[in-house]
Amino acid sequence: MKINKVLAFDIGGTKIAYATVDRNGKILNEVIRHPTPAAPGAAAKLLKTIIAQFEDQIDAVAVSTAGTVDRTNSRITGSVGNMPEGYMDTDFKALSAKPVVVENDANSAVWAEHVLGNAKGHDNVILLTLGTGVGVGIIADGRLLVGKSGAAGEVHFPVRYDNNRLCGCGRYDCLEIYMSGKALSLEAKAAYKDDNATSHTVIEGLKQNALPAVTAFHNWQEMVKNGIVIFADIFDPEVILLGGSMAHFIDYKRLNDEANRMIVTTPFKLKEASFENDAGLIGAALLCVQKLEKKAV
Ligand SMILES: [Zn+2]
Repeated sequence: MKINKVLAFDIGGTKIAYATVDRNGKILNEVIRHPTPAAPGAAAKLLKTIIAQFEDQIDAVAVSTAGTVDRTNSRITGSVGNMPEGYMDTDFKALSAKPVVVENDANSAVWAEHVLGNAKGHDNVILLTLGTGVGVGIIADGRLLVGKSGAAGEVHFPVRYDNNRLCGCGRYDCLEIYMSGKALSLEAKAAYKDDNATSHTVIEGLKQNALPAVTAFHNWQEMVKNGIVIFADIFDPEVILLGGSMAHFIDYKRLNDEANRMIVTTPFKLKEASFENDAGLIGAALLCVQKLEKKAV
């Protein structure tokens, strides 16, 4: 089965983006973004309506989504975060008469970076997406690493042991609660001594070189560096990419040099991810083509 054109979705807690994409990952029309509807079942209904408009022009549907996706690329099995109620039970295959291939958003994004982006040509790549939470995509020895159930790449292991910060998973001091955008907001509240301070306060404050902003950002960036060192030591990658809204503000030269001095594996390059918002769409489309044409991923 040759796949020339797919309708690709990127589904998150705040927006659903979609576009048609060719077999080489080129976006063929403008990416359209909808707010994610909150009512139970509304997201699936919206997807079905959009797919119906494109169905006669496409060979398949590719979905990049928040949440753990099973190894058959058909359903979500967990970790959906802030997705609306009922979304986890979406029957993706029933949304279209064409084949539907679903993949986790971090996995989709790292595949896009590996094939077309800043990790092109490298077979060992880590993408850390720093958003509200932390998304992890792993390419190991040229393959997308998903684990036995599709859940590989979680960052809910403790990085300190004194019950300092409660993580969204219900336990204390996971790497995620030190590396995410939420972590930067916690640093902001402490540095500004203001419960209303957030990561946005820090980003604004950095423009004026405000001391609390500089302090909060420094503390957060140090933890990002520790996270990078963990992945570099475990996977010995050529490249580690940072993506997501917070990735713009990182001091890459400094973190690259310092993290490379801390690791016991071999030197790697730290870079910003290449695709700002469309990595999920592009990666899901590329993976969809590979899977339906029965090529290795
Ligand atoms: Zn956790």
